[in-house]
Amino acid sequence: MQINRRNFAKTLGVASLSALMLPKDIFASAPPFIKSKGHGKMKLTFKPYPLQMQHTFTVAEYSRNSTPDVLTQIEYEGFVGYGEASMPPYLGESVATATKFLQQVNLEQFSDPFRVDDILNYVDSIALGNPAAKASVDIALHDLIGKLVNQPLYKLWGLNPEKTPYTDFTIGMDTPDVVRKKTIEAVKMKENLKVLKVKLGRGHDQQMIDTVRSVTDLPLYVDVNQGWKDRNKALDMIYWLKEKGVVFVEQPMPKNQIDDMAWLTEYSPLPTMADEAFQRLPDIVDKIHGVYSGINIKLMKSTGLYEAKKMITVARALKMKVMIGCMTETSCGVSAVSQLAPLVDWADLDGNLLIKNNPFVGMKVIDGKVTLNDLPGIGVKKI
Ligand code: MG
Repeated sequence: MQINRRNFAKTLGVASLSALMLPKDIFASAPPFIKSKGHGKMKLTFKPYPLQMQHTFTVAEYSRNSTPDVLTQIEYEGFVGYGEASMPPYLGESVATATKFLQQVNLEQFSDPFRVDDILNYVDSIALGNPAAKASVDIALHDLIGKLVNQPLYKLWGLNPEKTPYTDFTIGMDTPDVVRKKTIEAVKMKENLKVLKVKLGRGHDQQMIDTVRSVTDLPLYVDVNQGWKDRNKALDMIYWLKEKGVVFVEQPMPKNQIDDMAWLTEYSPLPTMADEAFQRLPDIVDKIHGVYSGINIKLMKSTGLYEAKKMITVARALKMKVMIGCMTETSCGVSAVSQLAPLVDWADLDGNLLIKNNPFVGMKVIDGKVTLNDLPGIGVKKI
């Protein structure tokens, strides 16, 4: 979206652009900052948007064909920021809980969208929980302020877009024939794919890996989704996986087996990454540090970008590994979290490729890498 001249003049408090006595082409390059005088009011709107899955999605705990989702918008002085709440059932949110939460959010009391700290602390204080619903406001607000200054968020944060990691494509659990077919498809269709993620934890783990390995030598990320209950067997399996070219193991054991998990991490030859075991910033110190090697940050757990960015800082100070992930999401959520990609070790951002009804275009995977664009805010356009 280009800067709207009428609004630019309005925010500077002048009647017309000619009063500025500036050459026209000043608008060809983005101004560094536009100071809002706070005359506008932010208006939050939202609508349910069920995500239809391309294939049945199977992990250790469940299978599903669709994901509940709510799309949000924040309008302000002619600009629109987009957000999203994706709510896979295991997190306990739903369209009903998100609706109830978002109906209580009154952004009209704020006249300056750049007061992100005030606004998001207010949103967080409305009710406990509701991380995805909170994220949908956070994402739309970040998109809005990026659009107001006509810059992508990664630029506003001073990040180098060339430092993004590769991202993976996920192979779900299935029969060997289906797994082989899906792996062949993934490797063929995505010719520059650099890494695959394999879901394990339902008892056919070696068969899953051997089947994938019969097709490709690509490095593998493994996500067990809490599927291993015995720490000794888990350790044996991780040694075996290391021989098979696995890079890290995500959420190997149930989140409440904390002592077992700390033991496993101490002896594991591969990094262990926490996913289901944490949600918010304090959890990193309270639950994760000393128990896992690193964290998988997802906006739908962290309440959005504002807290996710703080999480990266804390995790790095604790010398932990960091990856970013997503739920099944549209390109809105995936592009938003991608703005943080230059700060992380690994990315697992294929949520938008798993759905049939993506209403946005945004971050693209080019040569296997998370590739950020120059669009302002979270870097998306509506299709
Ligand atoms: Mg996971």
